[in-house]
Amino acid sequence: MTTELAPAPNSTAAINSAEEPTAPRPISRQRRWQLKMRDQHRCWRCGEPALRSLCAAHLVQERERQRRINGYSTRNLNALSYIFGGAAQPGLE
Ligand SMILES: [Zn+2]
Repeated sequence: MTTELAPAPNSTAAINSAEEPTAPRPISRQRRWQLKMRDQHRCWRCGEPALRSLCAAHLVQERERQRRINGYSTRNLNALSYIFGGAAQPGLE
């Protein structure tokens, strides 16, 4: 029994020892732009400066989307999107 660990998928040893070398999957122009925005700490949906991974407007949009999907009735008022000016209801802004 060997206790040798398998090499990491992206290490050069794995590539050299693989019998069928696989080419990296091509990514779309859109996905390449999203990754570029993420690397520059900008919103990956619109390109504005991001708070975490999204801008303030898209954080609010995503928060409300998740509330709708999961059916939450309570609000986490300490959430980042509330701290940076995202009102709980559009009329309260
Ligand atoms: Zn955005």
